[in-house]
Amino acid sequence: METKIIGCIDRHQKELIDFAEDIYRHPEEGFCEFRTASKVKNALESLGLKVRFGLARTGVRGVLPKTAGPHLTVIGELDGILCPRHPLADKETGVAHACGHHVQLAVMLGAAMALTDPAVRDSLGGTVSFLAVPAEEYVDAKKRRWLQQEGVGFAGTGKGELIRLGEFADTDIALTTHVHMVPVEEDFYLGNPSCNGFSSELITVEGKAAHAAVAPWEGVNALSIANSAYQMMGLMRETFQEKDHVRLHTLIREGGEALNCVPDRVVVESKVRAGSLDTIYHIREKVTRAFEGAAYAFGGKIHRERLQGYLPVRFRPADTALKTAAKYLDGYTYREVAQSDFNNACTDVGDLTHLMPVVNFTYAGFTGVLHGADFAITDWDKAVIAPAKLMALTVYELLKNQGEQARRVIEDYQPVFTQEEYVDFVWKIIENR
Ligand SMILES: [Zn+2]
Repeated sequence: METKIIGCIDRHQKELIDFAEDIYRHPEEGFCEFRTASKVKNALESLGLKVRFGLARTGVRGVLPKTAGPHLTVIGELDGILCPRHPLADKETGVAHACGHHVQLAVMLGAAMALTDPAVRDSLGGTVSFLAVPAEEYVDAKKRRWLQQEGVGFAGTGKGELIRLGEFADTDIALTTHVHMVPVEEDFYLGNPSCNGFSSELITVEGKAAHAAVAPWEGVNALSIANSAYQMMGLMRETFQEKDHVRLHTLIREGGEALNCVPDRVVVESKVRAGSLDTIYHIREKVTRAFEGAAYAFGGKIHRERLQGYLPVRFRPADTALKTAAKYLDGYTYREVAQSDFNNACTDVGDLTHLMPVVNFTYAGFTGVLHGADFAITDWDKAVIAPAKLMALTVYELLKNQGEQARRVIEDYQPVFTQEEYVDFVWKIIENR
């Protein structure tokens, strides 16, 4: 069966690479990946899968005919990242596939091709879904507001919104992939390293307008308040501990309008990243004190709007199924995640890891930096073909023998939230409860 899986993906090499190349050349932003979604839908339908689409606007799910046993969901991400200097960035939106989500979709499709082979399919003791999800990359506050008007409840992340809509209610195990996100020399990195989570906020600084030359003493300079808060946050950095992996990011979304007016309104979007929710909230308090302290000093005011963040990724060592699957691929190098490995970036896969086991691996095949203008796929075999084989083989290992290994994975897993608790947790953030 393993040889059959590998042979099937080998036979479709060109089709898979063309599929990824086409998506690479047509990047789309989160929750607006309509062209990409329709391409995924057509590809899954051509394999005879039952396909549902328009999930959280652009999500697409293809299901292999249901059988009794565990339900595995193989995930691919649809969106690009805002990276206007990337040579293949969309001219209008500035979005580019500088995070490799285009190859990730091809990996999912390759796995679907192998697992729909009648002999392979009949050997599976469970259900397999292929789910293309919208919006993995950070969605900014302005766009979130627009999306909420369009009916997206959790406009901060595609996976969060799909959980809210009940799209993960039947899933027992999720399977995710990505190009390497931490420095790894090997072709494959098996398991899920711990990653940062984050909270974000839209902070409005309210001052008072006045003529900047005639009577600046009549005004309250909102930009000075924001600058002072920035200074304080900078000085606070010595209080951050290395073990907590704290990162602070701020962007000034509105910074005053007329040069001869004292700016009376500044809007800052801020992100606090750290390795645990407790630390995120602890550092968030410091940021709040910096803004409130600065506002107090100048006589201005602060308004804070909490936005949905991502939960940290819970560490998961390489699963037995993944390690067994990897043995069938000759000529590639591997490394398993270590408990001490850490990824400072964030992903909404973190949210899923709080609800269900997430079997994950990452792969090589690219040069440049993630989210950078120089990111490019340089080895299609390592970035698409071999990972597609590894994904299909892993699903097979989990579901062969009536899903014996999958059942063990499910039994051993301890969730942090039920899906209902998660939805309530996110609503509390959004509604400032
Ligand atoms: Zn990514």
